[in-house]
Amino acid sequence: MKPTLVLVGRPNVGKSTLFNRLTRSRDALVADLPGLTRDRHYGHGRVGDRPYLVVDTGGFEPVAKDGILHEMARQTLQAVAEADAIVFLVDARQGLAAQDKIIADQLRKMGRPLFLAVNKAEGMRRDVVAAEFYELGLGDPLVISGAHGEGVHDLVELALESF
Ligand code: GDP
Ligand code: MG
Repeated sequence: MKPTLVLVGRPNVGKSTLFNRLTRSRDALVADLPGLTRDRHYGHGRVGDRPYLVVDTGGFEPVAKDGILHEMARQTLQAVAEADAIVFLVDARQGLAAQDKIIADQLRKMGRPLFLAVNKAEGMRRDVVAAEFYELGLGDPLVISGAHGEGVHDLVELALESF
């Protein structure tokens, strides 16, 4: 069984850009697996000689009026529940957002290996970028740029280390 890596985070943090990078050159294999809704996008990635599945979630979009629990779309919850590892993306350029804290609390409850990735950090100092995100209580933030591919390999290696 291939391990499954699920990308989550509020809108616009760069989930789909990272997904495309992880699955690039394998576009033909981007799966439209039967029974999956359009809200979730599955693709195949590979780190070294190890294949994995990656899921781009559209969750945490405001799909209901009743607050963050409802904003966690059902599809995202399901993807997270099935994840072997969760990559929680935040935005280095916007900084720590209130919604990030709420999502972090929800993800922590899932009891899955959780990796915090501070995205869009190309051209920025890693330590400066990381500093404010320690507050999320998810350990050392991994500073990456999905668009430029910086830190992406290390992130995936770490997330899949135990599989
Ligand atoms: P999603 O809503 O989380 O799927 O985010 P997208 O992948 O659609 O990206 C949202 C916006 O952020 C787009 O304009 C991307 O070009 C931009 N973006 C994504 N990754 C990066 C990055 O690593 N660096 C920068 N500077 N912009 C990025
Ligand atoms: Mg997206």
